[in-house]
Amino acid sequence: MTDPRRAIPRTDALLADPEVAVLVARVGRGRAKSVVVETQAAAREGRLSVERVQPVVVQRLAALAASATSLRPVINATGVVVHTNLGRAPLGPAAREAVFAAAGYVDVELDLADGQRARRGRGTLAALRQSVPEAEDALVVNNGAAALLLATTALGSGRELLVSRGEMVEIGDGFRLPDLIESAGARLREVGTTNRTTVEDYRAALSERTGALLKVHPSNFRVTGFTASATVGELAELGREHGIPLVVDTGSGLLAPDPALPDEPDAASVLHAGADLVTASGDKLLGGPQAGLVLGSAELVARLRRHPMARALRVDKLTLAALEATLLGPEPPVPAAVHASAQVLEKRTRALADRLAGAGVPVEVVPVAGRVGGGGAPEVPLPGWAVALPEGYAAPLRHGDPAVLARLESGRCLVDLRCVPQEQEEDLVEALLGVAAGGSGATGRGTG
Ligand SMILES: *Cc1c(COP(=O)(O)O)cnc(C)c1O
Repeated sequence: MTDPRRAIPRTDALLADPEVAVLVARVGRGRAKSVVVETQAAAREGRLSVERVQPVVVQRLAALAASATSLRPVINATGVVVHTNLGRAPLGPAAREAVFAAAGYVDVELDLADGQRARRGRGTLAALRQSVPEAEDALVVNNGAAALLLATTALGSGRELLVSRGEMVEIGDGFRLPDLIESAGARLREVGTTNRTTVEDYRAALSERTGALLKVHPSNFRVTGFTASATVGELAELGREHGIPLVVDTGSGLLAPDPALPDEPDAASVLHAGADLVTASGDKLLGGPQAGLVLGSAELVARLRRHPMARALRVDKLTLAALEATLLGPEPPVPAAVHASAQVLEKRTRALADRLAGAGVPVEVVPVAGRVGGGGAPEVPLPGWAVALPEGYAAPLRHGDPAVLARLESGRCLVDLRCVPQEQEEDLVEALLGVAAGGSGATGRGTG
């Protein structure tokens, strides 16, 4: 008797197989070899028939080639727009194309007209100034924390920054802004109390050591009840009287007022009210790539740009490209999802529910409140709708390809279309029907 396992194709033969070889060229020989070895092992252990070895190798390599990174696409059906665990802001089509175009050699720091070196990211900076005419100049760094760190280090190193006790915030995952700021040498002097701080508290704390007044928007919580805080206008006036700059960290990256988010500060209004510098994120409510924005006084922005730390915080060409396209292009996905009309969402949700019900899926349509999420405006509910499914749908949806993340609430799996663009809806339906049919939610593409 001959053992059929003897017939398992050898590694060299598999790698040389024409169908396999084209895929090896795409994924690299090292990774291809591990796939081959794993598949041979499965056959040796009897988990796979010998005839299936070559097709399974091809299938697995094709899946690897299709997903060039370990990051897996997720359909965000949670209704949480700026979802930190899902990478915050999804880029819109314009920004995606800009990233693709910037991936090769580009004139990021070169003037093609005269062949001389040019200001890095000048197109992006021009787009920022165009978006916020109140800003004399702008600077882009790696993220919002970097923007705040650079501003407070350049203006406050070896000096004191005055900040309200109610604004000593933790931005998540154990990161506290006061620790960040002080780690680079600036000293924070807290003024006022947790719930109440007035401009007189800042005035009383002023000294020859004061480097700047700092106002931080507590973006992820609200203090309510007996509260008071100094306005940007009051602090700007105090700063002007004493020749001390006012830095405002708005957090969200909102550049102009948004009626849907009445309590969220925006860069234009804060500068208009007298702030000298505004710092913000690029990938929260602005809806762009991860980036930190500094906007405001030309003199102060120049000081920040010349600070040695600026070089360590600078952004790459991909970020500059995505940010410029976000600023100049059509409404990006994040503001679009925040502004999505409840009527339109209801119509889409009912249509989805009808399709699922038609396939025998037990569904119900329920009103839900979406959320802005990690981007700010924690209290603002975004009225919307969801398809409610049995709780057991959540895990297989998450395991599918593409993965679908739904919201679990009161023992139900809620699928909210707010953050699901129209072009993802068919994938979502396939995933839901796949789970209903007892599958993993996989659509059969690239699951290997
Ligand atoms: C989010 C946030 C930051 C940090 O910005 P990142 O882009 O996450 O680095 C700083 N300050 C405030 C007020 C924020 O909301």
